[in-house]
Amino acid sequence: MKTITVLRGDGIGPEITEAVLRILHALKLPLTFEVFDAGMNAFATCGELIPQAVHDSIKKNRVVLKAPITTPIGKGFRSVNVQLRQRYDLYANIRPAHSLPKIKTPFCDVDIVIFRENTEDLYTGEEIVISADEVHAIKKITRHASERIIRAAFDYACAKGRHKVTCVHKANILKKSDGLFLSCFQEIAQAYPMIESEDLIVDNACMQLVMDPHRFDVMVMPNLYGDLLSDLTSGLIGGLGVLPSANIGNDYAIFEAVHGSAPDIAGQNCANPLALLLASCFMLEHIGYPKEAKRITDAIDKVLQEEKVRTKDLGGTATTTQFADAILACL
Ligand code: NAD
Repeated sequence: MKTITVLRGDGIGPEITEAVLRILHALKLPLTFEVFDAGMNAFATCGELIPQAVHDSIKKNRVVLKAPITTPIGKGFRSVNVQLRQRYDLYANIRPAHSLPKIKTPFCDVDIVIFRENTEDLYTGEEIVISADEVHAIKKITRHASERIIRAAFDYACAKGRHKVTCVHKANILKKSDGLFLSCFQEIAQAYPMIESEDLIVDNACMQLVMDPHRFDVMVMPNLYGDLLSDLTSGLIGGLGVLPSANIGNDYAIFEAVHGSAPDIAGQNCANPLALLLASCFMLEHIGYPKEAKRITDAIDKVLQEEKVRTKDLGGTATTTQFADAILACL
């Protein structure tokens, strides 16, 4: 029996978590789930954003399914998401954007996997207030963190039969920091002669992604560009409601949706649970249940193909619960 730590998160988090857990339970796998609040909901009930019980559970189980957690903008505490990624050294944030059946978007057959460095860059949260009118933010890039995310991207490309890895950077301006990331990429690429490699400046990469996404395969980049470009790639395949994410380290893994807590639609039972459901499929593959993950993705494809049940963000009227019911009916 394998135990998974589940964090219900904030905003739409509890609703989409409930939908996904109903589907996972239906598979009748030898899995148990330890469910916790984390973030604002946990703070409201026990005064801590990440209660000690959550850390104890993560350390024991090592695999986490996590709903989105709110971060206050411009004030307040540091992102709980970033804290978890740094504390558990989840250095590879993998975000696959695959077109889904019958979702109307300008492009079909998009198939891009972003590898986002997950532990440093501007996300170290080091901001120095020089005066009331001047603040400096530290962009930290190290050889160690750059090399391991770049290797992870090339290893993934080899393992999955992909043909190209694109490095995204701004080394024309940030010559030392992004320059280091780029030189690590150029060195490591030489060890993978079977995989085509290229590098693009981030602004150019954005333009090319929306002009011709088919030219991209696997992409690797520092933390901030990965955050921005993965939301962009979600827009290519139907929006934030459909993009899953895996945060992988050597010892721990956290699976989540790319989207946030969507406070504008929280509590309305209208959020799309698909991104978190796809993240749970990623998790099932990771813990050795690829066939069961495929059962769920087949059910998702079938429900979307039929064009009867889909949530509002995908042009439908179904509730979160109704979408989960439709997946369960297929299973
Ligand atoms: P958001 O992703 O929560 O929402 C952006 C837009 O997409 C909103 O209009 C929202 O309604 C819509 N949306 C998002 N997920 C959806 C879903 N599953 N179904 C239907 N529509 C969906 O981004 P935001 O509003 O910028 O951020 C809200 C909060 O979430 C912030 O506090 C932010 O820090 C946090 N956040 C957390 C994570 C995480 O936990 N990993 C990631 C991103 C943002």
